[in-house]
Amino acid sequence: MMENCLFCKIINGEIPSSKVYEDEKCYAFKDINPQAPVHILVVPKAHIASVDEIASLNSEYVARIFEVIPEIAKAAGLTNGYRVVSNCGDDACQTVKHLHFHIIGGRQLAGEMA
Ligand code: 5GP
Ligand code: ZN
Repeated sequence: MMENCLFCKIINGEIPSSKVYEDEKCYAFKDINPQAPVHILVVPKAHIASVDEIASLNSEYVARIFEVIPEIAKAAGLTNGYRVVSNCGDDACQTVKHLHFHIIGGRQLAGEMA
């Protein structure tokens, strides 16, 4: 838990969110400003600032996130594909400095990624 971290507060329940999945290592909830019919954020329950901070000491959280993404996508009805994105740092426009993976889908997405 990191003070003044929005997603730590969401994980702790200090800030409300629309939960779609939770286990002891990760938490998934609906993005407040969806970019597509389905837009879910999956975050580790440990404060990891970004992809840049992933290392052997915390990669178990990331492994779990990727183990559950297919379940979350299936439960959200994403039977025809989806995109998983993590913005890292300023060039990628990361706005919340707690690692998160966007699951985006529910319509045909743009072919261009950037
Ligand atoms: P980033 O731009 O860092 O990759 O993604 C941050 C995401 O968090 C954005 O898609 C934004 O809409 C979402 N977000 C920001 N604040 C909140 C919030 O308070 N609640 C929820 N559910 N999503 C949020
Ligand atoms: Zn945090």
